[in-house]
Amino acid sequence: MSLEWLKPAERLRTLPPYVFARLDELKARVREQGIDLIDLGMGNPDGAAPRPVIEAAIAAFDQASNHGYPPFEGTTGFRRSITQWYKRRYNVDLDPDGEALPLLGSKEGLTHLALAYVNPGDLVLVPSPAYPPHFRGPAIAGAEIHSLILKPENDWLIDLAAIPDSVAERAKILYFNYPSNPTAAIAPREFFVEMVEFARRWNILLVHDLCYAELAFDGYQPTSLLEIPGGKEVGVEFHTLSKTYNMAGWRVGFVVGNRHVIQGLRTLKTNLDYGLFSVLQTAAETALNLPDSYLQTVQDRYRTRRDFLIAGLAELGWDVPKTMATMYLWIPCPASVGSTDFALKLLQETGVVVTPGNAFGAGGEGYVRVSLIADCDRLQEALNRLKQANIRYSL
Ligand SMILES: *Cc1c(COP(=O)(O)O)cnc(C)c1O
Repeated sequence: MSLEWLKPAERLRTLPPYVFARLDELKARVREQGIDLIDLGMGNPDGAAPRPVIEAAIAAFDQASNHGYPPFEGTTGFRRSITQWYKRRYNVDLDPDGEALPLLGSKEGLTHLALAYVNPGDLVLVPSPAYPPHFRGPAIAGAEIHSLILKPENDWLIDLAAIPDSVAERAKILYFNYPSNPTAAIAPREFFVEMVEFARRWNILLVHDLCYAELAFDGYQPTSLLEIPGGKEVGVEFHTLSKTYNMAGWRVGFVVGNRHVIQGLRTLKTNLDYGLFSVLQTAAETALNLPDSYLQTVQDRYRTRRDFLIAGLAELGWDVPKTMATMYLWIPCPASVGSTDFALKLLQETGVVVTPGNAFGAGGEGYVRVSLIADCDRLQEALNRLKQANIRYSL
C-alpha cells in the first residue's frame, strides 16, 4: 500500500538530516562493539545544576500555586531577575513587562522567532558555520537562506562588506552568535557597532545569540548587542541557562530587546505553549542571582580543560589556538580529509566522539568541534587513544 497519504509536510521534507541524530546511530553501533565512548560531541555540560538552584526548585515544588499553568508571559519574578541581571552585567535598562520573555530553552525561541517573523520566500542571512537552529528555524518558516561563509583569515567574523547590496536590500533578519558555537570565535565591540549600523542602513532585524555570555576566560567579557547604542531598536538577544548553570535538561532560556519583536514572539507562543513551569522560573531566578564566585568556578573548570587539551593536542602535532570563550575547540581536519570522514575515523578507531564541522553548515567543512565536557582524566584518556591509534596532525 502506498504511504503517499501519510507523506509529511513539505517544510519537513526539505530540512537537511539532523547530523546529531545520525551520529547517535553510529555511536550506538560502536558502543555495541564494547568500546567505551568518550563523548566530546554535543554541547551538553557534564555535572548537575548548582546546589542552591536545586534547593530553590525543591522548595518551589512544595507550593501548590506553582503547579498550575504559569502566566503566558513568564512570572514577574523571573522577568525582573532577567532585567536586573542585564543592568548588573551590561548596565542596560530593560522593561521587565515588554522587553524580556522567558523561553522553554533558547532553541525554542530562536526557532519560533523565525515562524513569527519570516514569510515564505523572505531572505534571511545566516552565518555558515552556525548553531543549527539559526538556519533550521528560518528553513521551517520557508525562508530563502543566504549563507554568510565565515573564514579563518577573518577570525570567523561575518564580513559585512562581502554582502552584496542587492542581498542586504532584501534581507529581513540576520542571525549571529559571538562568542560562537561552533568556532569559539569572539567579536570585538567595534564589530557589534558595525552590525548595528548595517542593520539600520538596510532595516534588518538582528538576532544575537549570547548563550556563552558567562563562559569566557582570562578576563574577557563578551559584548551584549543591547549595550551598543541603537542595539535595542534593531535587535533581540537570546540567552540560556543550559551552559553556565548546567541546566540543559531543565529547558530555561530567555529573550530580551526590541519590544515589538518580543510581542510578536509572545503572540505566536501564546498559541503554542503555556510558558515555562513556575518551579523552573523560581529556580532560574536563583541561578541568575548566584554570586560571581559561582561563575568563577565554572570558568575555571572550562579554562583548565581548554589548557589541558590544547597542550595535549600540541604534543600530537595539532596547533589549536587558545580560545577566549565557549566550551569548544574548533580544530582543522588533517589536510584533504573531510569533516565527516575524520569524525568517523576518530569514532571507529578511538571511541572519541567529536562533531563534524559540516553539521553546522557548509562553511564548517574541514573542521571538527570538540566539546570540553569531560574532566582532565577523561581528556587524557582521549589523548592516549589518539596517540595509540597514531592519529597525528600529519595523518
Ligand atoms: C547550547 C546553545 C544554545 C542553548 O540552547 P537551549 O535551547 O537554551 O538549551 C543556544 N545557542 C547556542 C549557540 C548554543 O550553543
